[in-house]
Amino acid sequence: MSKIHILKFGGTSLQDASFINQAVEVVKNTSRKARPFIVVSAIAGVTDRLIALSKIPAGKSAKANKSLSELRNLHTDLLTRLGGSTAECFEKLNALFDELRGTYFDDHLRTAKPGAWRDHILSIGERASAHLFASVLSARQLPSVPVETQHYIKTDATFGEANIIPKLTRNLLADALNSLDKVAVITGFIGSTKHREITTLGRSGSDYTAGLIADALNADHLEIWTDVDGVLTADPKIVPAARNLEYLSFEDISELSAHGAKVIHPKTIHPIRERDISIQVRNSHQPQQSGTLIKRSHASNGDFRSLTVTGPYVYFEVPDPLAKDFSELLEQQTGAESGSDGFSFSRISRFEPAQFVIKEEVFRELKDNIEHLADRKGIEPVISENLYRVNTFTNKLRQSDLAVTQILQLLYKKGIRPKRIHREPNRRYFSLLFPETEARRAANLINEYLVSDTNRTDIFLAGVGAVGSKLLQLIDEFNSEDVSFNVIGLCNSTNTLWNNRGLHSADLDNGLDKGGQTDWPAIVDKLIGGDWHHTIFVDATGSEEVARLYPGLLEAGIHVVSPSKLANTFEQSYYDLLREKASAKGSSFRYETNVGAGLPIISTINDLLDSGDSITELSGVLSGTMTYLFNKLEEGTPFSEAVLTAKKLGYAEPDPRDDLSGEDVARKFLTLAREIGLRIERDDLEVESLIPGELKNLDRESFLERLPEFDEYWRNRLDEAASKGETLRYTGKLKDGKIRIGVESLPMNSSLGQLKGTDNLLRIFSSRYSETPLIIQGAGAGREVTAAGVLNDILKITKEH
Ligand code: ADP
Ligand code: ASP
Ligand code: MG
Repeated sequence: MSKIHILKFGGTSLQDASFINQAVEVVKNTSRKARPFIVVSAIAGVTDRLIALSKIPAGKSAKANKSLSELRNLHTDLLTRLGGSTAECFEKLNALFDELRGTYFDDHLRTAKPGAWRDHILSIGERASAHLFASVLSARQLPSVPVETQHYIKTDATFGEANIIPKLTRNLLADALNSLDKVAVITGFIGSTKHREITTLGRSGSDYTAGLIADALNADHLEIWTDVDGVLTADPKIVPAARNLEYLSFEDISELSAHGAKVIHPKTIHPIRERDISIQVRNSHQPQQSGTLIKRSHASNGDFRSLTVTGPYVYFEVPDPLAKDFSELLEQQTGAESGSDGFSFSRISRFEPAQFVIKEEVFRELKDNIEHLADRKGIEPVISENLYRVNTFTNKLRQSDLAVTQILQLLYKKGIRPKRIHREPNRRYFSLLFPETEARRAANLINEYLVSDTNRTDIFLAGVGAVGSKLLQLIDEFNSEDVSFNVIGLCNSTNTLWNNRGLHSADLDNGLDKGGQTDWPAIVDKLIGGDWHHTIFVDATGSEEVARLYPGLLEAGIHVVSPSKLANTFEQSYYDLLREKASAKGSSFRYETNVGAGLPIISTINDLLDSGDSITELSGVLSGTMTYLFNKLEEGTPFSEAVLTAKKLGYAEPDPRDDLSGEDVARKFLTLAREIGLRIERDDLEVESLIPGELKNLDRESFLERLPEFDEYWRNRLDEAASKGETLRYTGKLKDGKIRIGVESLPMNSSLGQLKGTDNLLRIFSSRYSETPLIIQGAGAGREVTAAGVLNDILKITKEH
C-alpha cells in the first residue's frame, strides 16, 4: 500500500502564480512516491482582507463593494494567469464570491449571530483557494478534486476559535477522503457546528486542519510548506540572522508554538501526538532543502534553542497590599488565571509594588475598570505600554540556569535591562520584558547567543600589515574544539571589509580594496551597536588615532588586544583611564607583545606582583632590532647596510628611526615601569638616540640615503670596545624609579654580550629574586613571534570570559 503524505500549503506558498506553480511541482514530486492529500490556506493576505471587510460598517456599501470586487478579481485573475482554468472553476469562484457578497449584506445574520456571520465570510478564502488549486492541478495532469471541510470537520459553536469534536470529525474525514480516486485539495481553517453554521479554527488554523487530516487518514508524513526554511531560531522578520533547526521533537515544537512561534499552529500536534507521523516544515521556494524534521520520538537534542517575541503588553505596578484586589478584578474580567498569556502578576515583598503584565488588547478592554478600582483605592498605578516579551528556549535550562545569567550579562553589557525577568521553574524557557525597540535588539543578541557555539569569539582586525596579516593566517589555521574565532571585520588605513560569517586571509588579496572607506568612528559605532556578544578589537595599526579609540571600546564591553605600543605610552592619565574603563565594564585589555614580542614578560611581571613580590630592578636588552644591528656590526657589516636589512626582514619598526632613536625601547620600559606601579611620563626617561643630530629633521628616504656617512663612526666605536674585550649593546635599566636607556660597552662573554639574532634578554630583580635575577630571553622581534603573541592574548581573553 502506498504511503500517505499530507501536504499543507500556507497562504504565503500560494501568494502568486509563480508560487502556485512551485506548489504544483511539489505535489507532482510527492505523487511519484506517495499518495498526496493537499491542505490549503487562503491565498496570502486574503484572510486579512476578509477580516477587514467584516469590519466595514453596514452603511458603507461603496467601500464594501470595492473590497468584494477586488477579492473576486484577485482570484479570477490568478486562475486566468495560471492557464489551468476551466469554465467550471470560473463558475465556482464566481458562485463563492456571490455567496460572500450575499453573506456580507445579510444584515439579519450580522446582527443576530455576528460570530457565525464573520466566520462564514472568512471561510470564502480557503474555499476559493481549494477550488483554484484543484483546478490548476487537474490542468497539469494531476486529476484533483476540491474538498470543503465544513462538511466533515465538526466543532462547537465557539466562532473564531472553534473546538473540534474529535471522534465524529475523524470518522467523517476518513469516510470522505479515503474513497476519493483523485487528489483531494482540502480547505484548511474551517469546520461547522451541528447546525451546519461554518466555524473557523483560529488564525493560522490550516496547520491544525492538516494535523486532523493526518490523524484521520493515519498518514505517514505531514509537510508544512511555507515561506521560510523551516522552524528557525527566531522569526526572521525580527531576527534576520535566525538559523534553521534541523530536528525537533513534538514536545519541542508544541512548547515553541504555544509561546508564539507562528510558523506552525500550536494545535497542529494535538491530533497526532500519539502517532508516529513525521512532520517536515519546508520552504516552498527552496524545495531542495530538507527544512525542519519533527518527530515524536526525536530525543529533544541540542537543536532545541529558539526565541519568540510576543506582545504588545502593558505593565503596571500597584502597592503590594492592593495586589489581591487587582488580580481578582483581572481574573473575573478575563476569565483567565494569573500566569496565562493574557495576564500575569507577581509580588516581591510587602514593601515593593506588585507587578502586573497584561496583553495590550485585554488592557484596552479593562482600562476603565482598572482605573475605577485605582480611583476607589486612592492610587495612581505606574503604567508602561508597548512592551514585548522575548521568550528564550534552550535545552541548557534543563541542567542549570547558567544560560539565563550569561544572556543577562550580555544584554547588560549592551546597556539593555529587562523590565521584568520571568523564569518558569523546571521549564526550558524564560522570558524578559522590554520596550519595543529594546525587545528587537535583545532578540537579535539572544539569537546570536543561541546560534553561536557559545565559545565563539568575534574579532575585528585593525591593520593588516606584517603582524596583522600573519595573525589572520594564524586565526585561519587555528583549530580547537573549545574555541572558535570569527573575523567579522578587518581594515587597513584606506579600506574596511565586514562579514558576519567570517573573513579570511584570502579576503586580503581578494576584496579588501573593494571594501568601504575606513572611517574609525563608524567602525567603533558599528562594533558597539552590533549584536556580537564576545568581541575583540585587535589594533595592529600603530596609529595614534586608533590607540585613542580604546576607552570607548572597553566601555562598551569590547575587549582590546594591542601589539601597538602607543596606548600604554601616552600620558599617564590615559594609561589609568584604560584600566578604569576595562575594570568598570569587565572588559579585557591585553598587550603582551608590547614588550619582547611573544616573550611572556608582562604576564610574568604581573604574576610576580599578584603573588606579593615586589620588583626592584628591570634591566637588559629589549630591542631585537638593536641586537641584530650590533651583531651585524660585529660581523663587519656597515651600520647603514645593517639598518636596511633589518628593515627588509621586518625586524625594524615601519620607520627605522623609531628603533634608532631609542623610542621603541623607551616605550617598552615606560610600559614596564607603569606595570609595576610607577607613575611616570615619557619625558622622565633618559634616552640615548642613535640618530645623529644632523639627520634628525630629514624625511625617511633622505635619512636612509645619508646614513652611510656615519658608518665610520660606528666602526670606530665598536673597535674601541673590542680592544677591551667588549662589544656594544643597546640596553635599558629601571631602578629606584629612574629609567636610563642607551648604548653600553659590555664584556663580550657576558650574557648580554653574547646575545644573537633578534634576542631580547630581561633581568628581573625582586624581593624573591634578589641575588640571582629571573631572566627571560628569546626572540624579541619578528612578525611570526609577535602575531603568535597576539593570538595568545586573544586566547587568554576567550578563557577569561
Ligand atoms: P503560512 O502562510 O505558510 O502559514 P505564516 O505566515 O503563517 O505562513 O508562517 C510563516 C511565518 O512564521 C514566517 O514567515 C515567519 O515570519 C514566522 N515565524 C515566526 N516564528 C518563526 C520561527 N521560529 N521559525 C520560522 N518562522 C517563524
Ligand atoms: N487563512 C487563515 C489565516 O490567515 C488560516 C491559515 O492561514 O492557516 O489565519
Ligand atoms: Mg500559518
